[in-house]
Amino acid sequence: MSPIKIQFLGGAGTVTGSKTLIEFNDKRYLVDCGLFQGLKDLRLLNWNEFPVDPKTIDAIILTHAHLDHCGYIPVLTKNGFTGTIHCTYPTEELTKIILSDSAKIQVEDAERANRKEYTSHDKAKPLYKPEDVELAMNHFQPHELNEWVILDKEIKFQFLNSGHILGSGFVEMKIGEKKIIFSGDIGRSKPMLLYPLKNSGSRLSDYGINLW
Ligand SMILES: [Zn+2]
Repeated sequence: MSPIKIQFLGGAGTVTGSKTLIEFNDKRYLVDCGLFQGLKDLRLLNWNEFPVDPKTIDAIILTHAHLDHCGYIPVLTKNGFTGTIHCTYPTEELTKIILSDSAKIQVEDAERANRKEYTSHDKAKPLYKPEDVELAMNHFQPHELNEWVILDKEIKFQFLNSGHILGSGFVEMKIGEKKIIFSGDIGRSKPMLLYPLKNSGSRLSDYGINLW
């Protein structure tokens, strides 16, 4: 079996900007594609050149619709990503709302900064616009929870209920003989509106996931 390479491109040293790159069999997959949020130093990271060419990423797997997990997707699609974005059905619907709102706020912020001339840049600009979000949404492919999705030979995954927000899921990935769990964000123990987890606790086995 060819080696599996995993790289954390965000969500490390900070809780936002979640992006995990998996390289296997000459293919690239990204689990989550979040926006860096918070203090200015973190937000500026969103303007850095992406470490790999978006055209070379084959698929994105999205754990849930919070902006720190999905908010960078329009940047990748406008810069050449042409693969499929896998998520659950509710995540697709929520992501459309969240990204559209994000684009609108960014356009308004840039306009306000330029009008009041309090930007240190030549001209403030949004990271992406509503039309970039429309382009991004064309790549979405929703799935049911507990549905195995074949990405390629020897690599598949399924979403498992994580009880965090509507549609959120752990990603249970099988690569050859190996199993890898991407938790995204872990839910609350007694959700009022979501499907409750079978159990709750701090160990994966509490969520019905057994690695060994
Ligand atoms: Zn979250």
